[in-house]
Amino acid sequence: MPRFLFVPYREKEQVKALGAKWDRQENKWYIPDGISEEPFTRWLLVNTINVRSKMYCLAKSHEICWKCGHDSPVFSFFLPVGEVTNWDEHGEYWNTFPCAMLCNVRYLPDNITSIIRHALPQYRIDFSKTVGYPYYMNHCVKCGARSGDFFLHGELGSAFNPNECNPDEISFLDLHEPFQAYATWHTSSVLCELHVG
Ligand SMILES: [Zn+2]
Repeated sequence: MPRFLFVPYREKEQVKALGAKWDRQENKWYIPDGISEEPFTRWLLVNTINVRSKMYCLAKSHEICWKCGHDSPVFSFFLPVGEVTNWDEHGEYWNTFPCAMLCNVRYLPDNITSIIRHALPQYRIDFSKTVGYPYYMNHCVKCGARSGDFFLHGELGSAFNPNECNPDEISFLDLHEPFQAYATWHTSSVLCELHVG
């Protein structure tokens, strides 16, 4: 599997100078065999997990595109009550949380990426200038503009961080399969109750 990089256009000369090559079929830069990943960390997805659960949900909400004004569907992963999260850097301390809405997803295993590649083409890896690394990001279905997780999750009342006024905006699709990822997360009693119903 080639080690693909997710590079903003204005940083392409930088990765080229470090030895990255352009894959014409994939339209992506990649690290050729025999070259260390170390200088490329900024443009790579992580290759480890910090969250896992016995099942997961695809959470759907919507957001008005900042660029074209289209009301576009947006997605995230939600882990329901009783699931397990790990925040130990060495993978030693696993902790249970009431529920978790994931954001800034930096790693997903192949069984999940193959689902979203077909079902949710607008939820794909892109480089975020806000956080300075690539993650699975929503894009407007009409114009393709990026819809960063900071705006979808950050503030109370945003698409995936409901308060009492907008809980109905989120719907869940339960998927009864094991889940793993590397991501940031947030939780709230409104979110947990929303999935329980
Ligand atoms: Zn748009």
